[in-house]
Amino acid sequence: MNPPAQTASNAHHDEELSGALPGHTLSAPSRHAFENIFEISPDAILITDAEGAIRSANPRSAEMFGYAPEEFILKPIDSLLPERLRMRRPSHRKRYTPLPTAREMGGGLCVFGIRKDGTEFPVDVLLKPIDTASGPGVMSFVRDLTAQRAAQETARRTDQQFRSVVESISDYAIYLLDREGYVRTWNPGGERIKGYSEEEALGLHFSRFFTQADSELGKPAKLLRQAAIHGRVGEEGWRVRKDGTQFWADSTLTAILDDSGEITGFAKVTRDITERKRREDSRAMLFSAELEANAEALKASEDRYRNVFHTSPEAVSVSRMNDGVIVDVNQAFLNVTGFSREEVIGRTTTELRLWPHVRDRLRLIDALRRNATCRDVEFQFRRKNEEVFWARLSATLIETDGAASILAFARDISDAKLAEEKIWGLAFYDPLTGLANRRLLFERLTRCTSTTARRHRKRAVLFVDLDDFKTLNDTLGHQVGDMMLQEVGRRLVNCIRETDIVGRMGGDEFVVILEDLSDVSEHAASQAKGVAEKILAAIALPYLLDGHDCHSASSIGITVFGDHKKDINEVVKQADIAMYQAKEAGRNTVRFFAPELQATVNDRATAEDEIRHAIQKGQFLLYYQPQVDSGKLIGAEALLRWDHPARGIVLPDEFIPLAEKTGLILFLGNWVLESACSQIAAWASKEETSRLTISVNISVKQMRHPGFVEHLLSTLQRTGADPKRLRLELTESMFVDNFEEIIAKMKRLKAHGLRFSVDDFGTGYSCLSYLKRLPIDELKIERSFVHDIVTDVNSGAIAESLILLSRALGLSVIAEGVETDAQREHLARLGCSSYQGWLFSQPLPIHQFQSLC
Ligand code: C2E
Ligand code: CA
Repeated sequence: MNPPAQTASNAHHDEELSGALPGHTLSAPSRHAFENIFEISPDAILITDAEGAIRSANPRSAEMFGYAPEEFILKPIDSLLPERLRMRRPSHRKRYTPLPTAREMGGGLCVFGIRKDGTEFPVDVLLKPIDTASGPGVMSFVRDLTAQRAAQETARRTDQQFRSVVESISDYAIYLLDREGYVRTWNPGGERIKGYSEEEALGLHFSRFFTQADSELGKPAKLLRQAAIHGRVGEEGWRVRKDGTQFWADSTLTAILDDSGEITGFAKVTRDITERKRREDSRAMLFSAELEANAEALKASEDRYRNVFHTSPEAVSVSRMNDGVIVDVNQAFLNVTGFSREEVIGRTTTELRLWPHVRDRLRLIDALRRNATCRDVEFQFRRKNEEVFWARLSATLIETDGAASILAFARDISDAKLAEEKIWGLAFYDPLTGLANRRLLFERLTRCTSTTARRHRKRAVLFVDLDDFKTLNDTLGHQVGDMMLQEVGRRLVNCIRETDIVGRMGGDEFVVILEDLSDVSEHAASQAKGVAEKILAAIALPYLLDGHDCHSASSIGITVFGDHKKDINEVVKQADIAMYQAKEAGRNTVRFFAPELQATVNDRATAEDEIRHAIQKGQFLLYYQPQVDSGKLIGAEALLRWDHPARGIVLPDEFIPLAEKTGLILFLGNWVLESACSQIAAWASKEETSRLTISVNISVKQMRHPGFVEHLLSTLQRTGADPKRLRLELTESMFVDNFEEIIAKMKRLKAHGLRFSVDDFGTGYSCLSYLKRLPIDELKIERSFVHDIVTDVNSGAIAESLILLSRALGLSVIAEGVETDAQREHLARLGCSSYQGWLFSQPLPIHQFQSLC
């Protein structure tokens, strides 16, 4: 690494990251963590701007691609790809911006990189969209797969021979684990060394072979993680046989990758080396005697001792073995722990609470008693400020004033640990809640249940969606929203068993996977329902978030399945559909996916294609519903219809929601505006139609689109429509988010003469203070109030107050859904004289509408 250039790249990424990740603002500690990852990551990390120019690159990038660090700055990221991949790839911006969330987070694009000297090498790329100081950008994590690929290639070539060899080996336990550490294959060596037959071993978690202490310290999980990150990890330690006896094992754990470089599992090779260990131990006794002698010698020569002790960059301490009283420490120890010399000397490690896990100290003492010395063992310690950190410790027994003492050298490795955890975490965990992310959830779902006995057990996916989370987020802010999501995550975890898993799919959507349910479908369903009801109750309990009393509720969709060959995407989709059913059934409810709904799952995929197709084929048309005032036709509301070749005229409720979800509404909406404007222009030339207005429904996505205003103005200009004849119907929900931005857009359009109407008025969260600030012209009374106006006192009262309100604000008011004379008369008495509804006319095709004029 090149220090001056590294500093230059640092300066750059400081500036670049000022915008942080969307939704995950880099607070001080995580920013610090980022910097560490950036510096020491084994992956190349490159930050590019929206144009695909590299804004910042970590030292590893330079090593990997063979450039000097400063050569990267502003270089197109494309130039790190071989020519042939560049050719196939559209511009950087187009390629990255529309990636769906799963891909953005999950990564796993497997391509080739090209070094400065022109050589190619296989890489795995994980992309993450971020906001940088200069706008949206992309953070790319690039992992060099050369070594892994070579290993894979060799493995593939020797696969057959390998199998037969593995089968015949009995000195080594050689077996495969799945991604989570469950045993998938077993060889005779495994049986000989560990005592489990193949049948017994398959499906066991490999942590079963570790001592209880190691399991409690999380050693098995740690090994998996390290193997996942480094490809392979070797280790020695005590293992437990089926009969409970222990042996000293020398083992390696190797990550197995599929063609795309994804980890599919691990290979574990274990050898019983108890005998060799014994021989080494006796040599170690000699070695430790030597060390002791050295320590003695050091002590004897006071000056030398002081020198080594005090100048060592490692935290050195001498503490009594029996009671933990600290006899001496060096400056590095004080720096690392944050204590002063006075606070430490003569106090015990327990008083200072140096060991967050007291049993770790006992483990160390145990090891020292057995071996007199131990090297490079990782422990956690606590600083004075309560912060817990990881240190790599080597220790030996010495004698101080006749008492057995521990001379320990420790190096703070928290940064490396944090980086390791963070890299691991980025790939599989949701940074906000710490729960599994979409990628891990899918992996977990793809994994078959492990043992033969459990093969018929059912599993369930619960799709949990918070009701009205958006409102909380909008009213109390994202910080409180985030706190809510974190608390919901904690509550969910408390509702499930250890074998189950909770993850966050994104937004306010959580997924729970229940494992090992009954093999009888009905029982499994009632077990899943039990958990779902527990979750409903837990989420409904009050929350205290940042001083606010909050409430929440959830809707849960469940699907129970047992067939492992099932497409996992399908399973999740089913639970999602069931969740929508729950929402429709009135929220705070549980619904099961029923096979009848399968049609909906299939429909949804084809409907999207159909809409695209219909746009191309020109199957959409506008109907016009008359609006009257004091008996005179004043205009029409344009209502979208789909003239479906097989189904006839399809109403908007059947396709608008999907069009909104998929973004197709932008095309549709533009088409509607274009048609309405052309109509206005066509009417302008005739006396009887020139004064008619057309109201067009605008959906939230359209209004929020950055190019909306320009596009509409150019449509008006192109068609020659008079802007004063066009009225945009906006819903109240539009003003919940980005209020100022929407107002600004409205004002720009209003300056050209356009008018605005608030649709479905009275159903949303309107409050007077914002209504007053909106540049609107008209309120449209929701048809449900009109419907009940004669029969229901409340609806009458609401309608009356809406009419009074519009008058107070100087706005006009129109009632929609007027079906009877009684309703019209009632409205007229309340002071409303503009109406739209079946009493006057249904929405009509254009030629029929024109015959009314
Ligand atoms: P909306 O804006 O509330 O439109 C009024 C709906 O009430 C229309 O349904 C209309 O046919 C219906 N309606 C009219 N008079 C009566 C009546 O007297 N009684 C009853 N019960 N209903 C009446 P439609 O056409 O099915 O439209 C449904 C919704 O679809 C609209 O609700 C609007 O939100 C949306 N929509 C329609 N066209 C467009 C469009 O071009 N763009 C967007 N973004 N949304 C549209
Ligand atoms: Ca409307």
